[in-house]
Amino acid sequence: MRAELIDGKAIAEAIRLEVAADVAALAGRGVVPGLTVVLVGDDAASATYVGAKEKASKAAGMRGETLRLPASTTQAELLALVERLNADAGVHGILVQMPLPPHIDPDTVIRHIRPEKDVDGFHPVNVGKLLIGHTDGFVSCTPAGVIELLIRSGVETRGAEAVIVGRSNIVGKPMAALLVQGRAGGDATVTVCHSRTRDLAVHTKRADILIAAIGRAEMITGDMIKPGAVVIDVGMNTKPDASKIKGTRLCGDVHFESAAEVASKITPVPGGVGPMTIAMLLRNTVRAAERTVLVTAR
Ligand code: NDP
Repeated sequence: MRAELIDGKAIAEAIRLEVAADVAALAGRGVVPGLTVVLVGDDAASATYVGAKEKASKAAGMRGETLRLPASTTQAELLALVERLNADAGVHGILVQMPLPPHIDPDTVIRHIRPEKDVDGFHPVNVGKLLIGHTDGFVSCTPAGVIELLIRSGVETRGAEAVIVGRSNIVGKPMAALLVQGRAGGDATVTVCHSRTRDLAVHTKRADILIAAIGRAEMITGDMIKPGAVVIDVGMNTKPDASKIKGTRLCGDVHFESAAEVASKITPVPGGVGPMTIAMLLRNTVRAAERTVLVTAR
């Protein structure tokens, strides 16, 4: 392997310590940042994510709570809960864990969360602010985490050819919006690829920075990567592994072994982008709390 590893775990830990310091500073002003996560139903993966978010927010000194609702909860009941949290001054960040049961429309729920408390950065107001370059909104945690990884690893984005594979609203599109902004971690020339892209490798081979957010195990192989490129693997997939008790193991969208022979820097899975997502959620929550202090001080 010739590529240097980008250690997302270590960078996320550094951000968590910064957040804890910000939380302590807020405590001195009588404010304890509060993150409320709402989980509807009993999806096992969602329950794990939610538990990790509550634990991380408490470890940073915040008030973290999880409201667990049955899968039979109606959309009207969930919206009423969101309204209650919107009005609760002790709740600075609201996160409704996706996916929701099929009878609840996720867009309707997201639109009900006050943009000032939308620490997931999914509300159309926050998405719009991101696109026009306003910095007083909230940015979706995973792409925000990727930018932090690039900046803190000393990767120059200015003038770089950045190619993103994937155009989802939570990763690919906000990733493109961040990389194209005229500021630190931006100024890149951005290409967004998706399932209708003709000859994907033509694009990926041009990339100085290649970001894979596809959801297809190990789809990006070393022969699709330009020598010396920086490779960021957002993917979280499983593949068969007889040596594990579960019979599977976690893997990314990038075929790590072949990519690491060609790239200059690469994120591993696990231990790359994954830990950054929760770190950025904590940072968004502390920012939400800080803004309430600024508003009341006016
Ligand atoms: P989505 O399924 O919403 O989007 C996948 C994107 O990949 C789509 O735009 C799709 O194109 C594109 N795509 C699919 N197949 C191909 C192909 N053969 N060639 C080119 N493009 C293709 O996934 P998400 O964005 O939500 O997630 C992507 C991955 O990142 C997943 O593995 C997910 O688990 C992981 N993830 C990890 C997070 C973390 O914290 N580390 C957080 C969020 C996601 P089209 O639009 O045309 O269908």
